[in-house]
Amino acid sequence: MHALPIDPPQRLLMGPGPINADPRVLRAMSAQLVGQYDPAMTGYMNETMALYRDVFRTTNDATLLVDGTSRAGIEAVFVSLIEPGDRVLVPVFGRFGHLLREIAERCGAEVHVVEREWGTVFTVAELEKAILDSQPKLVAIVHGDTSTTVAQPLAELGALCAKHGALLYTDTTASLGGNLFEADAWGVDAATAGLQKCLAGPSGSSPLTLSPSAVAVINDRKSIEAGIRVAGDAVSAQPIRSNYFDLSQILDYWGPKRLNHHTEATSMLYAARECGRLMVEEGMPAVVERHRLHGTAMVTGLVAMGLGLFGDQSVRMNNVVGVRIPEGVNDAAVRGTMLQDFGIEIGTSFGPLAGKVWRIGTMGYNARRDTVLLTLAALEQVLRRAGFAATAGSGVGAALDFYSE
Ligand SMILES: *Cc1c(COP(=O)(O)O)cnc(C)c1O
Repeated sequence: MHALPIDPPQRLLMGPGPINADPRVLRAMSAQLVGQYDPAMTGYMNETMALYRDVFRTTNDATLLVDGTSRAGIEAVFVSLIEPGDRVLVPVFGRFGHLLREIAERCGAEVHVVEREWGTVFTVAELEKAILDSQPKLVAIVHGDTSTTVAQPLAELGALCAKHGALLYTDTTASLGGNLFEADAWGVDAATAGLQKCLAGPSGSSPLTLSPSAVAVINDRKSIEAGIRVAGDAVSAQPIRSNYFDLSQILDYWGPKRLNHHTEATSMLYAARECGRLMVEEGMPAVVERHRLHGTAMVTGLVAMGLGLFGDQSVRMNNVVGVRIPEGVNDAAVRGTMLQDFGIEIGTSFGPLAGKVWRIGTMGYNARRDTVLLTLAALEQVLRRAGFAATAGSGVGAALDFYSE
């Protein structure tokens, strides 16, 4: 087998993620490795924890990375918090809610599901009723679901969960950085993310944060691995059912004990640290505002072109918009031409929205004026040739007018 050196085509990734990584993140990833207990490495780990406290807006000590894509963070939190038989409430309003349900079921939870039509979100009253009906130990809900492009308002849910004795977990993979998120102010006990959306990195590392209450539940089940255990170390009768995702041990690895666990994925730590630096340098409110600005410019251009939007626009995420595929227009042909002629990728949809809705993202490194204008210009040409009657120049013109307002 003779394989050529890697030389991927030039693409502008304007779908629901992954997006193009910020060049600073790619440079950080090419830095040389150091040993796991080198003071430089433990220093980088501590800095990464501090950076992500700012990103999640929390003072939680337990703020760290799990190696793996976003769902590694979800699995780590679920398998560490949930004991077989625990009641878990999962309000589902899109594809990733179904994923939370599935992972909770695989952890042996008694899962209660309430569902909302895709493109809508739950009211506080609906969530409170569901909590009262199911009396869960954990409420697990997606914040922004890229599958439907809407975000569930969470500001009041933490207090509601606390009132009824439940922990609150949320998946912020798609929303963090692009939309306001306040782990502490909203009373969130556990939140996980990934780098490949608004954080401007590649997939492969999952930043997460755990409140002291969540840490207490996890540490109650602590079991130190046999080969590194010393006299007096914890051995639980109900150990966490995964070694790799055992957050009680991972916390000891990231904490002052530096207890050996997996070998931290060093290049991904470099990436996650650089994503954190980028966001903290810009400031979280400014990062969110940038996503709001360019996301709104994109929407303004799409609407001016005569396209219809999908989902409840009052809760649309700043960083991704659902566009109704016009009648008579071939979904795959349009996306194929966008990619072949312009090198631009936009997203299709899953489940009930497949073939009906495109998802166009403006996130992370690609939440910029030039990327918005290029995408609108290209889409307009491709749609006109596909038979859709958009007025020439309408999308780019409207976006430019919006920017100059
Ligand atoms: C994109 C997305 C993910 C992605 O999970 P990976 O394991 O990184 O592929 C998870 N959750 C939500 C809500 C997402 O939008």
